[in-house]
Amino acid sequence: MKRSKNSYRCSFCGRDKAEALILIAGIDGHICEVCVEQADEIIQEELYSGKKETERDDFFLPEAVTPIEIKNHLDQYVIGQDEAKKYLSVAVYNHYKRLRQPITDDIEIEKSNILFVGRTGTGKTLLAKTIAKFLNVPFAIVDATVFTEAGYVGEDVESILSRILQVCDYNVAAAEKGIVYIDEIDKIARKSDNPSITRDVSGEGVQQAMLKMLEGTDVNVPPQGGRKHPEQKMVRVNTQNILFICGGAFDGIEKNIARRVNTQVIGYNAAETNQIDRDNLLQYITHQDLKSYGLIPELIGRLPVLTYLEPLDMETLKLILTEPKNSIIKQYKKLFELEGVELSFTKGALEFIAEKALEYKLGARGLRSICEAIMTDAMFELPSEKDIKAFEVDRTYAEEKLSRSKLSKLRAA
Ligand code: ADP
Repeated sequence: MKRSKNSYRCSFCGRDKAEALILIAGIDGHICEVCVEQADEIIQEELYSGKKETERDDFFLPEAVTPIEIKNHLDQYVIGQDEAKKYLSVAVYNHYKRLRQPITDDIEIEKSNILFVGRTGTGKTLLAKTIAKFLNVPFAIVDATVFTEAGYVGEDVESILSRILQVCDYNVAAAEKGIVYIDEIDKIARKSDNPSITRDVSGEGVQQAMLKMLEGTDVNVPPQGGRKHPEQKMVRVNTQNILFICGGAFDGIEKNIARRVNTQVIGYNAAETNQIDRDNLLQYITHQDLKSYGLIPELIGRLPVLTYLEPLDMETLKLILTEPKNSIIKQYKKLFELEGVELSFTKGALEFIAEKALEYKLGARGLRSICEAIMTDAMFELPSEKDIKAFEVDRTYAEEKLSRSKLSKLRAA
C-alpha cells in the first residue's frame, strides 16, 4: 500500500515532513537533517576523540617520505634557498616522526619549531605554505605585529590559534597537527636594552605570552579571534604537536653579526678573516645575534631550528619567473591559452622584469605587480580581438607598459 506523502517521518526523531527541512529516504525509513548532523557528531566523537594521538593518522607524513624527498618537493615550487630547504625538510621530518613515536622511555624528543631570517619576498612564507600543502595539514599565517600583551589594545596571542581553527573549520584534532606561520616576528623584538624603563607591551610582553604556546600546552582559544571576553565560549587547543614556523626580515641584524664575527676573528690570522663573505653575513647568523637584536632567550630557545634565506639576485629572480611549477609566466600563458592565444616572452622581457624587481627591492613579491602592470592592457584588449592567435612580449613592449603604470613611480628605497 502506498503511503501518502504527508505521513513520511524521520525514523530517528519522528518529525514529519512538514517539520523537517530535508527528509532523506532510505530503503525502509527516513532521516531528517537534524539527525544527520547529530549522527555526524557521534561519528566524529567516537572515531577521533576516543583515540590516542598516535592512532590518528589522518594528517601524518607518509611513513616512507625522507628529508631528501621533502626537499625535492620544495624544489618544484621554491627556487634556490637550499640551506633553508634542508633545515626545513629535516625539522619537518623529525617533527612528524616525533608525533608517530609512542613515548616508551624517558627520552622525549622536543619540538623543532623553526625560525627563518631573510629579507622580504625571498620565500619564507612560500616555504611554509608549500610544506603544509605537501603534508596536507592545516596551515595558517599570522602577523606578529597585531599582538599586544594581555590587557592592552590589540589582539591576544591566543588568537594565533583562532586562525588555524578557522582554516580547518574548527576541527580541533586537525588544528592540533597543523603548521602556523608567524610572520614579522622581528617586530616584537625588545625595543630597548633596559626593559624596566617603559613597559614594552608589544615587544617583550608578547614574546613572554608566546612561550608556553610554542612549547606545547593547552590553550583556551577565542574561536573568533581578537580579544578574549569573559562570557565568550572558549575552545581548548593543545599546541604540543603544532609546528610553529616564525619568519622575519630582522633589518639591520647584519650589524650584530658583523660585530660578533669581528670579535671572534681577533687573534686568528688574516686569511681566516678574509674567508668571511661580507656580502652575505646572514649565513653566519646564530641565536646569539637574535638575542642582541632583542628576542628574549626563552623565545629563542623555543625556536631551535634557525636558518636564513638568501637575498634574491637577478638570475634567481629570472628563474622564479619561469621555473616553479606554478610560476607567474606559466600562469599568464595558461590564461592566454584559455583565450586561444599563444603567449611568449623574449629573454629581454624577462630580464627587464627581473631588473625592475631588483630595483624596487621587493624581492620576488615585486615580480607579480610588475607583470600585472605590463600585461593588463593585453588582457583587456585581446579577448575582443578574435583574429590574434599569438602574442609576444619583448623588452620594448614591457618597458613601454611599465613606464605608463603607477608602478614606475616606485623608487628604489
Ligand atoms: P616572504 O619572504 O616575505 O615571506 P613570500 O614567501 O611571501 O616572501 O614571497 C612572496 C612571493 O614571491 C611568493 O608568492 C612567491 O611567489 C615569490 N617567491 C619568493 N621567493 C621565492 C623563491 N625563492 N622561489 C619562488 N618564488 C618565490
